[in-house]
Amino acid sequence: MKDYYAVLGVPKNASLEEIKRAYRELAKKYHPDKNRGDPSAEERFKEINEAYAVLSDPKKRAEYDRRGYVEGAEAYRNVDPEDLFDLFEDLFGVRFGPRARPRRGEDLEVAVTVDLTTVARGGRIPVRYRRRVLCPTCRGSGGKSQVCPTCRGSGRVQQYQRTFFGTMVQESVCPHCKGQGRILTEACPTCGGRGWVEEEAALEVAIPPGIDEHQRLRIPGAGHQGPGGAGDLYLRVRVRPHPELRRDGKNLVYTLKLGLAQAALGARVEVPGLEGPVPLEVPPGTGHGEVFELEGAGLPDPSGGPPGSLLVVTALKVPKKLPPKAKKALLEYAEAMGEEAGLEGLWDKVKRAFKKG
Ligand SMILES: [Zn+2]
Ligand SMILES: [Zn+2]
Repeated sequence: MKDYYAVLGVPKNASLEEIKRAYRELAKKYHPDKNRGDPSAEERFKEINEAYAVLSDPKKRAEYDRRGYVEGAEAYRNVDPEDLFDLFEDLFGVRFGPRARPRRGEDLEVAVTVDLTTVARGGRIPVRYRRRVLCPTCRGSGGKSQVCPTCRGSGRVQQYQRTFFGTMVQESVCPHCKGQGRILTEACPTCGGRGWVEEEAALEVAIPPGIDEHQRLRIPGAGHQGPGGAGDLYLRVRVRPHPELRRDGKNLVYTLKLGLAQAALGARVEVPGLEGPVPLEVPPGTGHGEVFELEGAGLPDPSGGPPGSLLVVTALKVPKKLPPKAKKALLEYAEAMGEEAGLEGLWDKVKRAFKKG
């Protein structure tokens, strides 16, 4: 397991601020531009990137804390510095890359709820959500624009400073166009200059059998659209609680309530399986909390292993009120078994004891 906290040198309960501060310092120190030709610094930089990408995102961090890994986190190791634009602007106060690049649309996350039967068999579910698409009128440009006169389209400006050691050049984001390289002269009437409009999107998504609770399904290109391409859509899959069955990984758990006589004498019962009732023979002398395993009656294994089991856990049902006939039978049972049972009898004994004393 990768220890992201150790990579950034922060405690497990570190605040977002502490994580940012640690990353800022380490990223400055190990940035490839400062360590040219040093592969160990490069490797360290990648580790730092990955750890930061996970720990700075509350959702990813929670997943990491819970499972010890985050799917796809390695992708952040090799992030193109241009994709970390804002981050690096924040880190160094400068932008990398030769010019402002059109922005890719943001990723979207949508929660969907599926039935346990869909988890068992897999299936297709409809997903409706809202997303930004490029404005059909201006195609994302936002309207008529011209090359920024301040930076002449590069999105960056240079400041020269004369110092004792010579002239220093400092590059920063063009304050006029905010790094875009162009400025709007006439806003598009459809989108008001934003370059995007919102639309209702509909998709049909395949749910793989045995999908994990809270697993995220990635649908590439189905997120918000931007001038530089569309982001991805992430579906967070939740499983609707089943009235009788509880999920435990690939196993299903059912609580079977047994009456006293059923537990003692045994009984033929039916257990509600996902694919219909399953007969079960409870042997005589079954206690509370015993587990019967019906192999293969659980959920499919998403990684191709054998399917899970249906675990039937017994729970002894003790009646709160007894009809006189049942009470009499139980008292007789107690006598036959040599059990001291029945509170009246006990009370009588106590009274007798007092009389004697
Ligand atoms: Zn427009
Ligand atoms: Zn500019």
